Amino acid sequence: MEIQGTHFVGSHEGVPGGDVFYAIDPQTGEKLDPIFRASEPQAVDQAVALAAEAFDSFRRTSGAERARFLEAIADELEALGDSLLERAQKETALPAARLAGERGRTCGQLRMFAGLLREGSWVDARIDRAQPDRQPVPKPDVRRMRVALGPVAVFGASNFPLAFSVAGGDTASALAAGCPVVVKAHPAHPGTSELAARAILRAANACGLHDGVFSMVHGGAATGRHLVQHPLLEAVAFTGSAAAGRALFDAAAARPRPIPVFAEMGSVNPLFVLESAMEDGVEALATGYAQSLTLGVGQFCTNPGILIGCAGPRFESLLAAVAARLDQAPEGTMLTEGICTNYARGLERMSEFEAVVRRTASGGVQEATRATGALFEVDGETFLANPDLAHEVFGPAGLAVACRDTEEVRDVARSLEGQLTATIHCAATDPQGAELLGILMNKVGRVLWGGFPTGVEVCPSMQHGGPYPATTDPRFTSVGTAAIERFVRPVAYQGVPDALLPPELQDGNPLGISRLEDNRRI
Ligand code: NAP
Repeated sequence: MEIQGTHFVGSHEGVPGGDVFYAIDPQTGEKLDPIFRASEPQAVDQAVALAAEAFDSFRRTSGAERARFLEAIADELEALGDSLLERAQKETALPAARLAGERGRTCGQLRMFAGLLREGSWVDARIDRAQPDRQPVPKPDVRRMRVALGPVAVFGASNFPLAFSVAGGDTASALAAGCPVVVKAHPAHPGTSELAARAILRAANACGLHDGVFSMVHGGAATGRHLVQHPLLEAVAFTGSAAAGRALFDAAAARPRPIPVFAEMGSVNPLFVLESAMEDGVEALATGYAQSLTLGVGQFCTNPGILIGCAGPRFESLLAAVAARLDQAPEGTMLTEGICTNYARGLERMSEFEAVVRRTASGGVQEATRATGALFEVDGETFLANPDLAHEVFGPAGLAVACRDTEEVRDVARSLEGQLTATIHCAATDPQGAELLGILMNKVGRVLWGGFPTGVEVCPSMQHGGPYPATTDPRFTSVGTAAIERFVRPVAYQGVPDALLPPELQDGNPLGISRLEDNRRI
């Protein structure tokens, strides 16, 4: 009998009955064993219903209990050893070192959330004690904290098979909040997803948690749409294309009871190079830009797709140096044939503009999944007149915008849609930089002074998000400890007896957490 991939409704594993699909080795185009099938709508419904059943006991677990669960997941992922990395490499063609690093990041963020839970102050407890004698009316006793939202759907991303997939940051932050999770695995790496799902379920079992805290289903757009419509779901986390993110956002908004969708849909991450940054030469800048643009064959949502400066000899030599580096860079294998086809289409779209000049000799798609970097150039006026030029080409393609003067550079900055990041290269004393900073901080989630935007640090102060269309909700981040805020809501308890309050809000502060008490931080 043929071996078939499984989905998991809680710990109950089964072979789905929907459309057949395979993982494809992007290096060779060969189908990989086993065959997979999309989960039927009934299985998706069962997974969400089980998650809803698990919610009440899971949300009541202590921070320390959930911390142990997250740490157990990290331990289980590490215990998979090379088998996880080997399968991920077959399904994605990402280099072994990158995948080992991504596993480290995945386990690191699980443990980071465990630390957050043990410390405990993330619930943002606020206590205002009663003043019965206050005139003209008595003040009631009011206490507020964050509580878990309920079952969350997580969509695995194609470009991070570990860190933004089954056991990635969205799952870690939702579980940390006390929300059961139903993952829809990305169809490009179902085998990796199955290994990670088993690791999470082993950890849940070892920690004695309700069976419904984690489920994983397979499938494509139809499965995703069905999942988002389930009446018992409370939130959705997604990383991927603008089209899919927006479709899920619209579907969630059209439900009889709308729910939040936290879709991270990428951006072009403009990088501004002012004259003062090129006074000492352009070589280091060119090397850094070309490396950032081609890192991971350009398949990062923080890829610096647009390079802006003032036309002139310095910018010209920077572009020539970048083009030379891209022409020398080896080709890379993209994650899927579909992503590579989209990249080819993006390059074609760019070439269709008469005013757009190609700066690289090579550049583009060599075979079904193999691609190299490309650099194009356009003048500021044409860029401003054609908003399509500002749209993301997912892959190692850069568009240089040569502006007439610094006023046009600022016009370009003002014209941009919401972005995950923007970067300014400029001397610290250059007043143009400060002006640009003032414009860009309104457009982005993260603004960089120097450096390059790829390589997002996972830390409490990170903001990985940004105004639409970078994400569907600019108030939140999908990286760092603040990512937990997507999956909680505040509740105020008024006049509730101490013994009935959660420990975080009780008078004696038994957990010893930092709280705002009568408007004083304690
Ligand atoms: P995708 O098209 O966004 O797909 C992600 C997941 O959502 C897949 O499981 C997909 O199912 C599903 N989906 C697609 N359209 C949907 C819809 N209308 N309603 C509900 N679910 C839907 O991403 P991808 O397959 O990874 O790559 C395609 C393109 O996405 C890339 O070329 C790139 O432009 C972009 N992308 C961006 C980022 C980023 O970080 N910004 C990351 C990855 C990809 P199917 O498999 O059936 O389509």
